Amino acid sequence: MRAMHLIFLGPPGTGKGTQARRLNEKFGWHPLSSGDILRAEIAAKSEIGNKAAKYVSSGALVPDEIVTGVILAGLGRLDHSKGFILDGFPRTVNQAESLHAGLEQSGPEIDAAIDFQLADKAILERIVTRRICKNCSATYNVRFNPPREPDRCDRCGGPVVQRVDDSEEVVQKRLVTYREQTAPLIDYYARKSLLHSVDASAGIDDVGQQVMRILQTIDEGK
Ligand code: AMP
Repeated sequence: MRAMHLIFLGPPGTGKGTQARRLNEKFGWHPLSSGDILRAEIAAKSEIGNKAAKYVSSGALVPDEIVTGVILAGLGRLDHSKGFILDGFPRTVNQAESLHAGLEQSGPEIDAAIDFQLADKAILERIVTRRICKNCSATYNVRFNPPREPDRCDRCGGPVVQRVDDSEEVVQKRLVTYREQTAPLIDYYARKSLLHSVDASAGIDDVGQQVMRILQTIDEGK
């Protein structure tokens, strides 16, 4: 499989990060999660982090002018020949325009935008039981996939916690934000003939197989 440059679209809690990590383990493609980058900035109390914190904790989008620069800078530091997966960016049409303008100057073409589809009720059930490692961002679920030792990451031993924005109230807000500001990207990528979708209600392995089928079709130039 050649190195691919992918965008993972779709609401929160649909398994984008999990599938990005799987592709990283399988092919070495770099996952780039805008949420992880912003959470690291917030934890470091950087200028960007201090500006972003109130938006993240309330379930709103961080304004484009704050987020676009930091994500494009992160993308610029990656070795593009190794492939990448953008998880959570772009989230507005404006961000998408900035991304494609940046890549046109000095970057590869995007091979596909994959939309992870899941009903709101299932998203809510998944997210309120989701937990995350504060150190390495590995995700767990207290019901379906708990860490072996309670509250301790299997991978790095770090503390496993609930994200401040994973409460039911904030998730409801994030879903509204998604519908209003991010869902228009589905049409945007359909018009660029880059859109593919997966049924994210299936298990992790099944969704992984759906993703692989899409990638194989692209790789074979169909
Ligand atoms: P995520 O981890 O992708 O669910 O993102 C967590 C939160 O970070 C979101 O609810 C937003 O507040 C913020 N965020 C992440 N990515 C973006 C983005 N591309 N644009 C604006 N805000 C973002």
